[in-house]
Amino acid sequence: MLLKTILNDCHKFKSFIYDKVRFVFNNGEKLLEVTVLPRRNSQAICSCCGQTAPLYDRLGVRRFEFIPLWGYRVFLVYLMRRVACAHCGVKVEQVPWARGKRELTDTYQQFLAHWAQKLSWQEVAVSFCTSWEKVFHAVEYIVEWGLQQRDLSGVTAIGVDEMAWRKGHNYLTMVYQIDTANIRLLWVGKARTIKTLLRFFRFFGKERSQLLKYVCSDMWKPYIKVIAKKAGQAVHILDRFHIVAKLNKAIDEVRAGEHRQLQQDGYEPVLKHSRWCLLKRRENLTEKQEAKLSDLLQYNLKSVRAYLLKEDFNGFWEYVSPAWAEKFLDRWCTRVMRSKIEPMKKVVKTIRNHKPLILNWFKAKKAFSSGIVEGLNNKAKVTTRNAYGFRTSRCAEIALYHGLGNLPTPPMAHRYP
Ligand SMILES: [Zn+2]
Repeated sequence: MLLKTILNDCHKFKSFIYDKVRFVFNNGEKLLEVTVLPRRNSQAICSCCGQTAPLYDRLGVRRFEFIPLWGYRVFLVYLMRRVACAHCGVKVEQVPWARGKRELTDTYQQFLAHWAQKLSWQEVAVSFCTSWEKVFHAVEYIVEWGLQQRDLSGVTAIGVDEMAWRKGHNYLTMVYQIDTANIRLLWVGKARTIKTLLRFFRFFGKERSQLLKYVCSDMWKPYIKVIAKKAGQAVHILDRFHIVAKLNKAIDEVRAGEHRQLQQDGYEPVLKHSRWCLLKRRENLTEKQEAKLSDLLQYNLKSVRAYLLKEDFNGFWEYVSPAWAEKFLDRWCTRVMRSKIEPMKKVVKTIRNHKPLILNWFKAKKAFSSGIVEGLNNKAKVTTRNAYGFRTSRCAEIALYHGLGNLPTPPMAHRYP
């Protein structure tokens, strides 16, 4: 039968052969079963130590799920044996197509994990007639393998970022490698406290931490403290993406407050539907938003003044010399303080508190554009959203490593496109 030919081509094992292939009915489901037999004169392997060992007895039939074919689920059926190992005693044998007690063959796990990088776990489960749990376990296996095998040498730049996780105040701390040669997620941890980031540095090790040249983060105090302590030699940069995010948050606050006030006082609600006009970068506005913005700019509104201050701030990033950038920053801060717009003044206080770290961006010769961390942050959000149905942060961690970790995968005879 054709299936046997395929298996012998891409899923072949030295000590085993494929025997009968047949259709079987199981609880109303028609599926394919492939009998696997040990090759004559081959020796069984002890699952405990991996050495060959003499046969002890036969245990019972186990079924291992393989990649489905044309909608039929495919199972390898094998009569498991036990060995009398000289070192370990009587143990169940090790089969090369699956690990431990897993029901899925390694190949099927890799197949599911491969698709789980393109589709949500639920979509993968439905597409390949399996369950969400099995997809999760498949991805978990691949991720654990990848984490063990990955190479952590040569990391010189990292970005520390946080992500809200589920509703309420749950956070995940993410540490990325942002060297242009290898951009990937290095570590995820629960919460965003001092302890969280200390855990990263413990994992990463003293030696590697001292080789770091650049660390990017936002203005979150616990991160700043830990970075200063554990990677004090590195240039610590507060990245642009987070500073712009703070400005946007302030504008949003000003706009919401002013909109409410205008309505209360019975004025025309000019700020209605203006949120994105004021937050988006001007070049990204749609035609409609552009028209709305031009219209808005004619009013003497706090929101408009705050918007213009934010737009002016863009000039800051254009400087080459840290000294000139600093002069610009000081002038900009003074103007904002005079504007008497409270949320913006709050941002200025934060900026003033962190001025040296913000100016470090120019010292690092702008090597770490906000695009890197921002892009990873967006991808992380999409990943956790896609895997909707995560019950625990463990699932989220696995999905994030799988999606962003750039992990090596186990070697496989057959590659999927
Ligand atoms: Zn053994």
